[in-house]
Order: sequence, then structure tokens, then C-alpha cells
Amino acid sequence: MNSKHNIVTRFAPSPTGFLHIGGIRTALYNFLFAKKNHGKYLLRIEDTDRKRSTDDAVKAIVDGLKWVGLSPDEEPIFQHKNQKRHTEIANKLIENGHAYKCWDNEDEILRQKNEALKKGKSFKFQSSWRNKDPFEELNTSFVIRFKTPEEGNVIIDDEIQGNISFPLDNFDDLILLRSDGSPTYMLSVVVDDHDMGITHVIRGDDHLMNTPKQKLLYEALNWNIPSFSHIPLIYGEDGSKMSKRHGALGIDYYQESGFLAQAIINYLLRLGWSHGDQEIFTKDEMIDLFSLKKIRKSPSRFDLKKLEDINSHYIREMNEEDIINKIGKDLINLPKDKLNSLKMLLPEIAKRSKTINDLKENSDFIVNDLPLNLSGEAQAVLTKKSIAMLEKLKNQLETLVRWDINEIKKIIENFSNDENLKLREVLLPLRVAITGRLSSLGIYDVLYYLNKEHTLKRIDEAVGNVRKE
Ligand code: GLU
Repeated sequence: MNSKHNIVTRFAPSPTGFLHIGGIRTALYNFLFAKKNHGKYLLRIEDTDRKRSTDDAVKAIVDGLKWVGLSPDEEPIFQHKNQKRHTEIANKLIENGHAYKCWDNEDEILRQKNEALKKGKSFKFQSSWRNKDPFEELNTSFVIRFKTPEEGNVIIDDEIQGNISFPLDNFDDLILLRSDGSPTYMLSVVVDDHDMGITHVIRGDDHLMNTPKQKLLYEALNWNIPSFSHIPLIYGEDGSKMSKRHGALGIDYYQESGFLAQAIINYLLRLGWSHGDQEIFTKDEMIDLFSLKKIRKSPSRFDLKKLEDINSHYIREMNEEDIINKIGKDLINLPKDKLNSLKMLLPEIAKRSKTINDLKENSDFIVNDLPLNLSGEAQAVLTKKSIAMLEKLKNQLETLVRWDINEIKKIIENFSNDENLKLREVLLPLRVAITGRLSSLGIYDVLYYLNKEHTLKRIDEAVGNVRKE
């Protein structure tokens, strides 16, 4: 069997907050690499921090991945359920001489820290228990520490970052089991990756510094070491660390804001990876073209505008039925003439919509019943003067026999000439009367597709409402 068939990747989020956009990108790269190599892509929920892990966050991860089409190939693995196995491995490391029980407490650590400070040296904790062999066990609580080799370097050959050498004298003896018996991240991640048969660890480069420590554990356990790929983080538009202000929000926020899953995936793919200038990829193309080597070494910047552009692209590509479904499934029950107007205006509506929410907003005026819900700004356009103008215009439109875009346009242009008004002075109140908004689709299209009856009715309605005031 080709070794490629054994490739296994994983996405390993901690369920302590929302599933943010950077996490989705990590999941995507793991998914694509596995699929490209006919391997498996798994999900491990890193929930060992029982106080901070919540069921809601687990649900947000599972639902979010499902929505963007990145559900794992198997049921998720919950890390805290493997605790017994983690403890077993910590004890095994003691047995084979790579770890030891340490009874040095916080006071001792602090003492060493202060001493180093006094001497102006950098602090590296040195346990007095490391070389006590044999020794008498104390009756108090202890931690299990790894015996980090004292000299040399750990070399990580990262698929993205290249060869990196970490001098060992920077590392102290890392804790594997805490004094309450709970395993640390460093131990759990290695044991689980091994047990899950992970061949490629692809994750954010905030974990790069952990990698040499993990490699030492693999070596001490005589386990196969996976390949490592550390993806540069995503920064905000201004180059600073991504925060809520920059769009570091849960994936559900983007879903609620009317972004399409496909657009998000496309955008995230390119945020750190590229294939020439190609912007839009089908899922099959992504799988086909993806390679770890083409992931950029430099951090990327999140650009909401770019995401909106890609989203608009997908919206324009949607067919009539899809758009109507996205605007609202029950639209199919609209009165026939409204549904017709909507259908006719859909291409225009889609062209002007960046998100599904825009689609809804831009079609509101057709779908909703009169009276229109006017914003304060729109209301302000309907002055006594403009209402009188609209009444006059309505009389002219009423005379039109052939309700046709060119005829409508001609009549409105002539009207503005005759009345000595700028075209804008006619169109703005008209737009507000017809759509309830200051900006809308091409107004001539709107009048045409709305049809004569509804156009006149809307002008009447606006005139009547203002008169009533
Ligand atoms: N649970 C870690 C995180 O959410 C990821 C660990 C890993 O990928 O090794 O950052």
C-alpha cells in the first residue's frame, strides 16, 4: 500500500470560547492535506481544562465545522476521556528513566527564581529530585517531570518554517502530570497524536515553541515522530494581533452576517496559501492543488473587504431558486405578482448584495407589505414639496400606456426638465416612496418590474402618509 494512504491529520481546538476564523483555516488545511493524500482528517476536542471547557463551545466547534463542510471523518475524540492513558504514559516514562517524581514545591521554585534574579542570571528551574536515585517517596503531593536532556539541540524540520534548531539548555524539566494528577497539554497532545496515528501535525505557529518539547517526548517513548507544519497566524488589517475588532469572531457571527460557507473557505484558503493568482477554487480544485510547501511563511492579514468580494462573487453565481431560498424559504408563497417582481429584480439585487443579509435588505421592499418601514433619513426626504412633486409625477406615469423601461425613463426625464428640477431631485423622493430607502437598485428597473399598478399604489401610499401627518 502506498504510504500516502496512511496519512492522518487532526484539528485540535480547545472548547473554551468560540470557533474563530483562524481555527477554521487550520481545520481547512488539515482537511485538504488529508483529502489530497487519500488520508483521514480527525477532530480532537482538547477539553482537559475542565473549568474552562464548555458544552456550548464544543457544540460551536462541531456545528461550525459542519456548516463550512469540514466535519471530521470520524466521531470527535474528547481528550479528557484519555486521562488514564496519559497517566499510564507518564508512569512509563518514569519506568524507563525519562521522568521523575518531584516534590519541590512553589516555595522552592520561587527561591531559585529569586536567587537567579540576584545573580542576574536567567532562571531555569532545577529540581533536587531529578537525580535522586533511589529515593524515599514523600507522603505529600508531587508532580511528574520530564528529564529534559541537558545538552545539545532539538532540530525541527518544519514543512513551512524550515529547519529550526532549539538549544536544550533553554528548557527546564517540563511537568507531565500536575500535583492533582491531571496531565499537562504537552503530555496529552503527544500521547493522543500517537494513539490516533497522526502522521502530520498542522497547527498555528503559536505552538512552534512547544514542538521541540513534544519531539523529546516522542523520542523518549520511542514513537514515530509526526511531520510538523506551523501555519503563521492571522493578523488584523493593521498588522496587530487579531482581536474582535479585526473580525476575530466566532464562525457563527459570519454565518449570521450573511456570509456563505463556500466564500469563507475560499477566502481562508488564500489567506496563507496560493496557487498563482487564482482566487476562486472549487472544493475539488482545492484538494487537488493543495500542498503544505506552498503555505506562506509570513503572517497574513485579515481583510473583511476581500471576504465580502468573494462572498459577492458566490452570490452572483447563485441561481434564482438558491437566492430565493436564502432570502427566505417561505417566499415561494408570496402573491404571484410580488414573486414575479422579485424574480425579475433578482439579478440586479444579487449584483448589489455582498451578503445574504444584503439580499434580504435589498429585496425587503418587494417582499414586505405596505406601508414601508422608512428610516429617519428616508422620511426626511419626503417633504411637502417633494410630495407635491410626486403627485404630479404620478399623474404623468398614470398616462403611460406601454409600461416599458425606456418609456418610464423618458417620462421621468422630461418631467424633471419641465419642472426645472435636477434629475436627482425627482429620483430621490421617488426612490424613497417606492422602496423606502435612500439607495436602491436601478430605479427604472424597480418601477418596471414592480409594474404600473404597484408603482402608482406606492406613490399614493407615500403621499397619503405624509398628508396624514
Ligand atoms: N488545543 C490547542 C489549541 O487550541 C491546539 C493543540 C495542537 O494543535 O497541538 O491551540
